[in-house]
Amino acid sequence: MSIVKERKKTRQVSIGSVKVGGGAPVAVQSMTNTYTQDVDATVSQIKQLSKAGCEIIRVAIPDMEAALAVKKIKKQINIPLIADIHFDYKLAIASAENGADALRINPGNIGTKERVQKVVQCAKDNGLSIRIGVNSGSLEKDIEQSIGNGAKAMAASAERNVELLRGMDFHDIKLSVKASDVSRTVEAYRLVSSQTDLPLHLGVTEAGGLFAGISKSAIGIGMLLAEGIGDTIRVSLTRDPVEEIRTAWEILRALEIRKRGVEIISCPTCGRCRIDLFDIAEKVEKALLEVKVPVKIAIMGCVVNGPGEAKEADIGIAGGDGTGILFKKGKLIKKFPQEKLINVLLEEVKKYTMSRRELNGEKG
Ligand code: SF4
Repeated sequence: MSIVKERKKTRQVSIGSVKVGGGAPVAVQSMTNTYTQDVDATVSQIKQLSKAGCEIIRVAIPDMEAALAVKKIKKQINIPLIADIHFDYKLAIASAENGADALRINPGNIGTKERVQKVVQCAKDNGLSIRIGVNSGSLEKDIEQSIGNGAKAMAASAERNVELLRGMDFHDIKLSVKASDVSRTVEAYRLVSSQTDLPLHLGVTEAGGLFAGISKSAIGIGMLLAEGIGDTIRVSLTRDPVEEIRTAWEILRALEIRKRGVEIISCPTCGRCRIDLFDIAEKVEKALLEVKVPVKIAIMGCVVNGPGEAKEADIGIAGGDGTGILFKKGKLIKKFPQEKLINVLLEEVKKYTMSRRELNGEKG
């Protein structure tokens, strides 16, 4: 039985071609860390992220040059783009007019109601949705002074900003209420989810480096998803954003919410292991990053216990004493020299994914 509760039905919005909320699959999002003005570098990173499974990309728009660059970037990518704006409403308008699929703003820092109104009108004219991104570190002063910067204050800020946009007859809203710690983040999302049917974008902000970031995100995002909360997710790491996408998919896969690509089962090694399993696992993981067809593979440290311990794997390898073996669903298929372990596995995965694609009638 699944440990994940039924997902809360939220209002559906569109971010370009991707549907968010209202029963659509939980979408994986990331943010570029290139200078948006550097079109080539930004496009190249978005393409890498897209290959790794990123479905919606956000780019920072710090100035007008970046807003104008959106047009050139959009022409070269095929996933929806969200323009991330702080403070300057003109940048939001320019991004929308240059082809952004959605805007991310914090109405609290855009300034007067008239300015927010201009952004909203522009979003309406161009058919864009808006994410209201509330962060614990940038709450409105009056809210912070009266309630502090805890979960209740974040939910109050979200409510205020949603009301502001709804008052302008704008309803294609997505919400996020991120803090840099798991407790506040989870509590704030629970509160907001109980108050609104708007789709929610989940994330723990400034989560940290690889280990802290993955742990905080897996717990924070994972808890909420398991409670049925959340329509898009972004893992935030002080790393190459490709690592964010890998982590996001691992979270979705671990909760059995979505399946994509290669799930690797590998043993921690023990005194029976006679191969450099860490190196093999790392190389295989990298080589198979772009595979989309779901496949479970096993990389095991010894031929004695490996196949038995990884019975559920579609394809597995194990090595020891100069010999490598290939097994499928725990059954030995063939033996070969140990140096060929990686090549044999990659070749088998290729055959497997091609046969699955043919079964599904996919091309390419
Ligand atoms: S598969 Fe073999 S090497 Fe790996 S942990 Fe199990 S017994 Fe040890």
